[in-house]
Amino acid sequence: MFDVVSKGFRDVRNRFEGKREITEENVEDALKDIRMSMLEADVNFRITKNFIERVKEKALGEVVRVKAGDSEVTPGDHFIKICHDELEGLMGPVDTNITFQNPRIGPTKIMMVGLQGSGKTTTTAKLAKLCIDQHKKKPLLVGADVYRPAAIEQLRVLGQQLGVPVHAVEGGDPVQVCNDALKIAKEQECDVVIFDTAGRLAIDDVLMTELEKIVETTKPENIFLVVDAMIGQDAVNTAHEFNQRLEIDGFIMTKLDGDARGGAALSIKEVTGKPIKFIGVGEKVEALEPFRPEGFANRILG
Ligand code: GDP
Repeated sequence: MFDVVSKGFRDVRNRFEGKREITEENVEDALKDIRMSMLEADVNFRITKNFIERVKEKALGEVVRVKAGDSEVTPGDHFIKICHDELEGLMGPVDTNITFQNPRIGPTKIMMVGLQGSGKTTTTAKLAKLCIDQHKKKPLLVGADVYRPAAIEQLRVLGQQLGVPVHAVEGGDPVQVCNDALKIAKEQECDVVIFDTAGRLAIDDVLMTELEKIVETTKPENIFLVVDAMIGQDAVNTAHEFNQRLEIDGFIMTKLDGDARGGAALSIKEVTGKPIKFIGVGEKVEALEPFRPEGFANRILG
């Protein structure tokens, strides 16, 4: 993962090797490498440009007088530290909150949205496991993708695997299914309800209207958009469009175990103002991790 961006930063380390000070010339050269590798990794053009400008300003402003030998920190280390802080700033701060409702008022509702194939159903199960293991909750899974029997079947299998009840009605009305689920949760004493909503191959108005109705009638405390890191810049566009219609609370970025170029993870917060909360790092139900911008910046910088 992140090979493309990481390579750019490795080249930068080499450029500073043996250099005694940071000069405008070596900063310019280093930034050229970084710029190219960020764009290749599918980081948004505007974000890349702003990033480069901020790093340049800091590097030339603060560090130009740092000389190797004067301090333990070499010019290369110092330059990389500036890049690290800026990368972290782009993605941070850490926000892995799930808003839980007071159980006396009712169950916590988590609405999962996203394009078909993004990993929504898998992530619904992963999140249920996290609620059980870390928050001692009793979830109910809701198959609101009533159009695809395979999606409902997949959710049932995952529910069985986790020992968690599933409410789904093939061919039913998704808004009704979600609202009925709230009554069922009460009957079965479930304190978290996770809606696995329908996805399409692309965003369309009919789907968005359906999702808006579910939001209006169930008032979820959490709306999480599941995005596939493998689709790069398209993930950022999807995030932007969903966020405009639904006011989502955060993202879960999947398939970061694959050879995703990683650019989407760098761009999504800056473009939408919403955080990545969790990341999917595999197909199994336990392959969900909190998103840590600092760790991510470290991985990018190699
Ligand atoms: P949905 O259509 O959005 O509900 O997507 P699914 O949950 O059916 O997932 C689509 C495919 O992506 C399945 O083969 C999942 O096993 C796979 N998948 C989901 N999340 C991850 C992940 O974090 N890593 C990997 N490698 N595969 C994932």
